[in-house]
Amino acid sequence: MSITPLMPVYPRCGVRPVRGEHCHLIDENGTRYLDFASGIAVNLLGHSHEGLIRAIQDQAATLMHVSNLYGSPQGEALAQSLVDVTFGDTVFFTNSGAEAVECAIKTARAYHQNAEGGDASRFEIITFHNAFHGRTMATISASNQAKMHHGFAPLLDGFKYAPFDDLEAAKALIGPHTAGFLVEPIQGEGGIRPASDEFMKGLRALADEHDLMLVLDEVQCGVARTGTFYAYEQYGIEPDILATAKGIGGGFPLGACIATEKAARGMTFGTHGSTYGGNPLAMAAGMAVMKAVANPEFLAAVREKGERLRTRLEQFIGNYPDLFELVRGKGLMLGLKMKFESRPFYVHLRDNHQLLTVAAGDNTIRILPPLVIGDAEIEEFFDKLSAGAASFAIPEAA
Ligand SMILES: *Cc1c(COP(=O)(O)O)cnc(C)c1O
Repeated sequence: MSITPLMPVYPRCGVRPVRGEHCHLIDENGTRYLDFASGIAVNLLGHSHEGLIRAIQDQAATLMHVSNLYGSPQGEALAQSLVDVTFGDTVFFTNSGAEAVECAIKTARAYHQNAEGGDASRFEIITFHNAFHGRTMATISASNQAKMHHGFAPLLDGFKYAPFDDLEAAKALIGPHTAGFLVEPIQGEGGIRPASDEFMKGLRALADEHDLMLVLDEVQCGVARTGTFYAYEQYGIEPDILATAKGIGGGFPLGACIATEKAARGMTFGTHGSTYGGNPLAMAAGMAVMKAVANPEFLAAVREKGERLRTRLEQFIGNYPDLFELVRGKGLMLGLKMKFESRPFYVHLRDNHQLLTVAAGDNTIRILPPLVIGDAEIEEFFDKLSAGAASFAIPEAA
């Protein structure tokens, strides 16, 4: 037998972490890595946050799982705290980002198809080039990226793709069957590409004009990552539906679909469900994260650190005009766009300088540190990045 016990869908690297300490990962051999990847924007409190650990330990010892057939004081509390800090009125909890997006897509369709005065012929969702919404059948269908479709035909019907940040193109796709828009305010996997203000405001206006659902995928950019609790706040708009995950559990698998009362009008008894979604253990993790990050002081600190990191990155890339093109992003969701495919540099930083980042589309390196970094981690990051840039040989093919 040559197949590995772990289904070989990930080209896993040689780093094999076994322990986390604040903003560092320690692998099997004892090598320490500075973690500016955070499990891809997940570990926003770092790796050994006492409040999060205590909350999970206490809840595990008290009550880990019960069915959604029963009342949920834990779920009500976390849903209320999300409702309190967002546009939303109601929350469905999931175990992952893709499931949160799935619920968001179902909510948008049901808004039209399962309500008095709705329009049962509306099902199409307009999405955007190079989007990433997850790996389930619906969420790969929601992206135009052919590399995610190959081998999985037929896709789910009902998605149309427009170029990202192109309002006229999105408008041109609206037809009698359109149910809504699905968009990442800041594309993560696509290369840390923020949508423009005009684009986000324009989508909101088009949605209002045509009675469409504006669905935001904030799985990567949400939960304090950009310096506001959700990124939409910085665009001066509110969505109808929002998918959130990654950071919201701080490392525990948790996602949510948040909606307004109006947008959720089709999600009636029996229309959706999840065995694990919203179980007490996940709710305890989510509550601990909310307590730590959903306050003005924490958010202001993320903005301040984000600006500091960005300013220094901009100065830094000036020293290496052959390597880097620009810095983009918001808060502590930053992208370093390179002059060539970013993967070799990302591997060099990881293997030769013990600095973990994440490669992304559009020649970009993602810089996604835990939101709890301090001066020491920022200094260490620039030490490693500078050493990495100085010792990097530009690949022949570039
Ligand atoms: C990671 C991600 C997802 C999928 O989340 P999973 O938890 O892997 O299912 C969806 N949308 C965006 C924007 C993401 O970054």
